[in-house]
Amino acid sequence: MAYQGILQRYGSLLGLPDHTQQVTLLEGGTPLVPVPGLVEKLGGDFELFVKFEGLNPTGSFKDRGMTAAVSEAVGRGAEAVICASTGNTAASAAAYAARAGLRAIVLIPEGKVAAGKLAGAIVYGAQVIQVQGSFDDALALVVEITQRTPLALVNSLNPYRLEGQKSAAFEICDTLGAAPDWLCLPVGNAGNITAYWMGFEQYHALKKTGLPQLLGAQAAGAAPLVLGHPVEQPETIATAIRIGRPARGEQALQAAQESRGRILAVSDDEILAAQQMLAGEGLWVEPASAAGLAGLKAEVEAGNLDPRGKRIVVVCTGHGLKDPDVITHSMEKPRVIPAEMGALVDVIKVG
Ligand SMILES: *Cc1c(COP(=O)(O)O)cnc(C)c1O
Repeated sequence: MAYQGILQRYGSLLGLPDHTQQVTLLEGGTPLVPVPGLVEKLGGDFELFVKFEGLNPTGSFKDRGMTAAVSEAVGRGAEAVICASTGNTAASAAAYAARAGLRAIVLIPEGKVAAGKLAGAIVYGAQVIQVQGSFDDALALVVEITQRTPLALVNSLNPYRLEGQKSAAFEICDTLGAAPDWLCLPVGNAGNITAYWMGFEQYHALKKTGLPQLLGAQAAGAAPLVLGHPVEQPETIATAIRIGRPARGEQALQAAQESRGRILAVSDDEILAAQQMLAGEGLWVEPASAAGLAGLKAEVEAGNLDPRGKRIVVVCTGHGLKDPDVITHSMEKPRVIPAEMGALVDVIKVG
């Protein structure tokens, strides 16, 4: 049977209520891409894969949680969904709401959302509201209004989001035939690392697959889980993880600890360097998505993580296409030439 999305494939493992009515865009089933070139750059002698979540229908892993949350909301008769977002949740909520014929309202921090994500949310027909404040301020508003009105909350405080996001852990185990030794990923609101750990634990209990150690990476300017306190004015180029008060922070810390892993901070420069390394393998991811690799690289180089003989998965959470500004600002502008052979030969210097 043709692929029908994660609810169809893993529904019995996802802890969704009986009233759930599947709303799908055929999310999930993303590739686990081997990256031997990066293994070499990091000293060799291990296996490294990228779980390329940018290939989901709206360009990020958020679609895994959104198919679950919107399917549940539709099944109980919700007519509108609302979320706060650094961008990808907004685009995903808007798309799945459109698919289901629901109204979508999304709150984003003013001026801090990548162009492609904002465009997506608008194109899919959501009501987009810019808040003069941070993501955390927007989330506080959303939580309060959903307590007073029938609007369905689809942030990762919604437990069904995490249920859907567990599917990525299942896919990795099913593809590898085992759990990886390490799983490296960015941490923002901390729902994803929490969901991965739930998924790996569930497969461990059910199928006797092993448990990976988790390496979570926060941006240095937005690293509350590393600092041990909220960050009032989070700042980073990696806008998807520009969060100072993670909703699932406690659970994320616990997951990292139980896995005998950790959560660390990486600088924006390290994030951009990792983004470039991935692009050098043909994988263009948005800055936040490169944080997992940046964390792995930093730990390997510091001698804190010995990769030898290990199987490591880096989760690249979203596609680079949605956030082109970061790259184009720092890039050399392409050369302009007259439409003449002589000029072309001069510029490309071949043969
Ligand atoms: C949402 C998001 C994250 C952070 O995930 P959390 O569950 O909030 O920790 C990382 N990268 C991208 C691309 C995202 O959209």
